[in-house]
Amino acid sequence: MDCVFCRIARGEIPARTVFQDEHLIAFDDIHPAAPVHVLIVPRKHISSLAGASEEDVLLLGRMLLAARDVARARGIEDKGYRVVANTGEHGGQEVFHCHLHVLGGMPLGRILPPR
Ligand code: AMP
Ligand code: ZN
Repeated sequence: MDCVFCRIARGEIPARTVFQDEHLIAFDDIHPAAPVHVLIVPRKHISSLAGASEEDVLLLGRMLLAARDVARARGIEDKGYRVVANTGEHGGQEVFHCHLHVLGGMPLGRILPPR
């Protein structure tokens, strides 16, 4: 599969890996938007959250727990962080292999409208 995240998962493109196991790989984003910016990527090619299905329930749960573990390992758990899944055109998705961004290490501001 000629997909950048599949290629990283197969070790064909180098990445600064934070964590990996049989299901997932986590690595630093090449263009960090915050002091900590890690991507959580399943080894299985799923195009986006919109392309996920019932059979991916366990994998999606593993991705969230990996985000938690990465945040803990990078020392941003206490202050807090944000987990983002850009999805589709309006979501600003650029790489069509489902992934989570873990962002932290600075105040991120509020992206939802003020109440
Ligand atoms: P998005 O699809 O909008 O959620 O964003 C994809 C993210 O992947 C962007 O933040 C890119 O900086 C990042 N990215 C693209 N190519 C690489 C790469 N080879 N290594 C690490 N991060 C990458
Ligand atoms: Zn892929």
